[in-house]
Amino acid sequence: MLTNLNDIDTGRIKVMPVTIPELTNRSIQTDILRTDLIHPVISGNKWFKLRYYLEEAREKGIKKLVTFGGAWSNHIHASAATARLYEFSVTGLIRGEKPAIFSSSLDDAVRLGMELRFVSREAYKNKIIPEDLLTEPHLLIPEGGYGITGAKGASTITDFFDPDAYTHICCAVGTGTMMAGLLNSCKAGQHITGISVMKNNYSLEQAVTDLLSQPAQKFSIEHRFHFGGYAKKTTELIAFMNRLYLETGIPTDFVYTGKMCFAASKLAAENYFPPGSKLLLIHSGGLQGNRSLEKGSLIF
Ligand SMILES: *Cc1c(COP(=O)(O)O)cnc(C)c1O
Repeated sequence: MLTNLNDIDTGRIKVMPVTIPELTNRSIQTDILRTDLIHPVISGNKWFKLRYYLEEAREKGIKKLVTFGGAWSNHIHASAATARLYEFSVTGLIRGEKPAIFSSSLDDAVRLGMELRFVSREAYKNKIIPEDLLTEPHLLIPEGGYGITGAKGASTITDFFDPDAYTHICCAVGTGTMMAGLLNSCKAGQHITGISVMKNNYSLEQAVTDLLSQPAQKFSIEHRFHFGGYAKKTTELIAFMNRLYLETGIPTDFVYTGKMCFAASKLAAENYFPPGSKLLLIHSGGLQGNRSLEKGSLIF
């Protein structure tokens, strides 16, 4: 099933209204951009971030991609599927020891044809590429697609909503690539708030700024909604995601979009958004990662 992939269909991306009591009670009209619907396997923002790396590889006649990620990485998962779809070979350098049992994400990656190499945390941190990979022509895609090329792809996410309809946009932030892309193509004066999913990752502001093509676009990053750190969770977060699903039918992931929606509701409760604000939440995908949760924690 996983190895026969349909093409990307951006026509599936939708904007839909979403009712979150903390927002609705304050008359903040809220919509959500469902980029998670773009493809059943390559979900959310990852194809956007990858698209111009692939174009670059194709233009240079390079058939091999190399990239990085952890065992549950959405980027690794999407890179494996995207490489399969567009007929590239791809090696994933995976952080840490080879596990006895692969995560569902790594299982999928292998089934999709990705070669996995497990690298020590030290080598991973220093982004050391194994010697033998260096000798063949390859395109190196940074972790999470971070870079100008990734941000350029992410900036095309704004093609899928009416730019005049929103005063505020909220998105989850990992590397900051998507946020930079949104900032590069959003309207002047539109306020983008990024929700960092990592604990104390204060280098993000600079990481985002480094990818901006137009200076002085206003943005802010909230560092209070990590729930203990990257891929950490609390029962409050899971309960929020279940409630959101019950009330709206929208599934979120616990690493990124669940934290982002939770943050939007808390920010609203703090009167962060002026009355009359029109808010767009970016659903950036990531649902495959929910398979790491204990069975039964989510109702979807
Ligand atoms: C990767 C990912 C992000 C973070 O994107 P960055 O460009 O790295 O900030 C956000 N949401 C989901 C669901 C993701 O998988």
